[in-house]
Amino acid sequence: MIQIHNLSKRYDDTLILNHTSFTLPSKGLICLLGASGSGKSTLLHLLAGFDSQYSGDITVWGTSIGKLNADELCAYRRDHIGFVFQNYHLLSGYTVLENILLACELNPSIEEENRKNAKELLNKLGLSQKTDAKIENLSGGQKQRAAIARALIRNPRIVLADEPTGALDRSNSNELMGLLKEISKDRLVVVITHDQKICSFADEVIHIENGKMIAKGIDAGTDLTDQPVLSLNKTVKGSAFKRGLKNFNVHLIRYMAVSLAISIGILAFMLSLSSGNRMEESISDFKDKNTAYNNGYIKGEDDGTVYELLNSDERIENVYNQYKITDVTLRLGDKTEVMAEKYPQPKATESMSYGTMPKAGEQEIALSPSLAKKFEKDIRNLLGKELALEYGEKEYMLTISGIYNAGYDDFFVSSDIEKEIYINADKEKSYSISYDVTDFEDIVAVSQMLADHNIDSKTSAKEVGALQSTFKGLNRLFLIVSILILAIGLSISTVLLIKLQNSRYKEIGLLSALGFNRGTIRRIIVSENLLLSAMSVIFNAVLVGCTYLIGMIFDVAIIITPLQILLSIISTGVVVILISILASYKLIRTEPAAALRK
Ligand code: ADP
Ligand code: MG
Repeated sequence: MIQIHNLSKRYDDTLILNHTSFTLPSKGLICLLGASGSGKSTLLHLLAGFDSQYSGDITVWGTSIGKLNADELCAYRRDHIGFVFQNYHLLSGYTVLENILLACELNPSIEEENRKNAKELLNKLGLSQKTDAKIENLSGGQKQRAAIARALIRNPRIVLADEPTGALDRSNSNELMGLLKEISKDRLVVVITHDQKICSFADEVIHIENGKMIAKGIDAGTDLTDQPVLSLNKTVKGSAFKRGLKNFNVHLIRYMAVSLAISIGILAFMLSLSSGNRMEESISDFKDKNTAYNNGYIKGEDDGTVYELLNSDERIENVYNQYKITDVTLRLGDKTEVMAEKYPQPKATESMSYGTMPKAGEQEIALSPSLAKKFEKDIRNLLGKELALEYGEKEYMLTISGIYNAGYDDFFVSSDIEKEIYINADKEKSYSISYDVTDFEDIVAVSQMLADHNIDSKTSAKEVGALQSTFKGLNRLFLIVSILILAIGLSISTVLLIKLQNSRYKEIGLLSALGFNRGTIRRIIVSENLLLSAMSVIFNAVLVGCTYLIGMIFDVAIIITPLQILLSIISTGVVVILISILASYKLIRTEPAAALRK
């Protein structure tokens, strides 16, 4: 017996059921009539425990279902309610039999028996031919019968059917009502209908008018002696992973599309990072190869103060006095040139015609064009050749690294060689001081420090300053682009995952209506999300691998460090899991009535 006492239900400002009271018997067939929108489905959902937002009281066999906790309410739906939804709520992608057995999944111990019962029911409902057909291939009437079979499979004590004959022709309607009439001998069956003819099967007809339930028709005699107690069995744990896996399989294409999109997003971020890496590498390459920029030159005699200042600065190495030298011999092959006098010149301000300036630490020499011409007509051929430099007792074997612009015979050597040469020089008056700044980054600061001491140094600080600000700008740009790509990727992933979860409200609402409790539903969703995350990780790994291969085949330098690959793969998994958990937060908590309406 179901006692409805003072029941009110409102949606926002609209009162649907208005302080209505009624007592339904434990057995018999009851038809529920009322205008469209009068609240028939709403009432059925309340009786089924799909919606707990109401005032008043619904007492089923002595237990107020409003006072049940979430798990008890699930047990109530699972063990006592068979619900036929107006729009069926069958799961596409599953067979008829699978849809029906879904209601038994929380009772898997008697699987064989469930299967047998399902087949018998399908037989009774004239659907035995369609047992293994996919649900989406059924006609409206066939779907309706499948939905009825699902409602009856667990032999519930209360059957609530929302317009179950809506899609059936007259003869099928009569057949179905005959079946419902028969089973109503030992249970309560409530049927919503518009069809007056259906009411002829009813023991009692109830109208809903102005939010009230009004009995019209003959009361077949409520059996008040039979008052069972509402028994609530323990929560049954369904195999969440199995269902998650099955769901994942059924929606495989959708899941693949989402995980592919997410992986591509993260790959785009990786590639942008790789371009950043590539640029950083070029910059550091540039810094290594252009050590002539590190050189500085201060002209004029020095009493030792400037030398001491430079020598005591940690950022500076190779500080030495330069002198005028005489009788330097240069020999290349069988050609020899002797320079009677050579004055030091500032290397840093010279511009190159070919090649590069001699680098500190390398045994290199750069020649002016007029001097170079004395060794070879086509001066470009000299680059990379070995040249012997003799001064005093010593001879140095040097590689020609470049030709620089100057209108007279002259040469530059690497600063460490030069330093050695001047050790042997006749120590009269020093002509100038030369130094190297150890780190490219300090070149501008060292020049500034010298300027602060009113020392005029010839350096490439201006060029280096301009380059550094370009490098900084490029670095910042790459960072911004990478972050932008990441943000776009994350937003798209979030939207896709939220959409994916939203598309599942009906499915989850159905599971909840069938009595799956929140914990089980959460485990199902988590299983699916884990599978989705694993799939995204695999896609990501494959995509990174393919990119690598393409890079190798087409000789595009893609620099992705193993750490970045690992991070990309891990972050794909973590991103998917985190967003999925956030997106499904609401999904898990929505009551069946609301979820099924979405
Ligand atoms: P019936 O089944 O009698 O045709 P319903 O019970 O489905 O009517 O709905 C009664 C009224 O409540 C309708 O006007 C419907 O639009 C409204 N309604 C039903 N469910 C909701 C909901 N979740 N939110 C807002 N309005 C709703
Ligand atoms: Mg309705």
